[in-house]
Amino acid sequence: MSRQLPALTLAELTVELGSRARAVETLRWLFSQRPLPTGLPLVIPGVSHRVWRPFLERSGLVLPKVTERQQSPDGTTKYALEFDGTNVETVRIPAKGRSTICISSQAGCTRKCVFCATKELGFIRQLKAEEMVAQYLLARSEAPAAQPASNVVFMGMGEPMDNLDEVLRAVEVLTQSPAPQLRQVAVTVSTSGVLPGLERFLAESNASLALSLNATTDEVRARVMPQNKTWPIEALLGALRKDVARRSGKRDYFIEYVLFKDLNDTDADADRLVALLEGIPSRVNLIPYNPYPGTGLETPSEARVRAFHERLVSKGMLTLIRWPRGREIAAACGQLVLSRDGAGFQPEASPV
Ligand code: SAH
Repeated sequence: MSRQLPALTLAELTVELGSRARAVETLRWLFSQRPLPTGLPLVIPGVSHRVWRPFLERSGLVLPKVTERQQSPDGTTKYALEFDGTNVETVRIPAKGRSTICISSQAGCTRKCVFCATKELGFIRQLKAEEMVAQYLLARSEAPAAQPASNVVFMGMGEPMDNLDEVLRAVEVLTQSPAPQLRQVAVTVSTSGVLPGLERFLAESNASLALSLNATTDEVRARVMPQNKTWPIEALLGALRKDVARRSGKRDYFIEYVLFKDLNDTDADADRLVALLEGIPSRVNLIPYNPYPGTGLETPSEARVRAFHERLVSKGMLTLIRWPRGREIAAACGQLVLSRDGAGFQPEASPV
């Protein structure tokens, strides 16, 4: 099947509907629906029947079935969604004046990070751009008016760089005019460090980039992220440095750093991290490990997390601690795993 809404670009929709004005009306309509419709209507204001009817016959609107909604006390909402029998998860995270939508790029994941619950699922299938934008569309339609869905992070299930064509299309659609017109810097693609995909992303997209670094030596990183043997730390940071040197426009680089007790949380690690990031105008997000059984990894004490943070800040690094959001509903980072037939694995509560 050819491309469908909500993953058609303005240019494609213009061809489909025979005029840019009709394409604009259609996109405006689509991204203003609350609640979401169940499909495309017979009539859209501003689009003539003559072109809309045949379009309806040859195309459609991809929408998820919501199988579960869970809300934590802080307002974070985790959606269990189904696309053609495939289950994925999406998280809506409210903040002051905005909401961030965390979307999945794959069902399961192609990577095997030791600390991440999603790996339990294995790899199920690639998600299409339609299914990525549809996750956003659904979460957007339920965001409170005072906290509109202005930000997207590709930090749900999956490795975006292993499904890059579809991710790039989703980013293009999310940032296009007239709707939903998210700012490029407000869309962040997060990678575990798949170098070929990372290089292509940096060359082809202006969106923000998050690199899940998670260690300061190749030895430790390879223990928790086996693919580090193929794409070691310096190769990944080298790609970022090259991008910094090449770009005229600004890009936001985020370094994600999951803190594991006694493994990567020492003062020496903090100092090495500062040294590694020299020449990359980045911001560091410290994520205390959200534990799950059987990994042998532990969460550092709150005092250690704060001390690590302080050390980075004292050396001039822009650093935030990402205390877990939605932990009560297993919606925090690395907790996205679906139970199959109710028999799946249940994450433990974090001691942090
Ligand atoms: N594959 C992509 C996006 C999904 S993971 C990536 O690796 O970046 C999103 C973020 O959650 C990553 O920064 C990852 O390091 C972090 N993460 C995964 N498991 C975690 C866990 N158990 N606790 C805390 N953060 C975790």
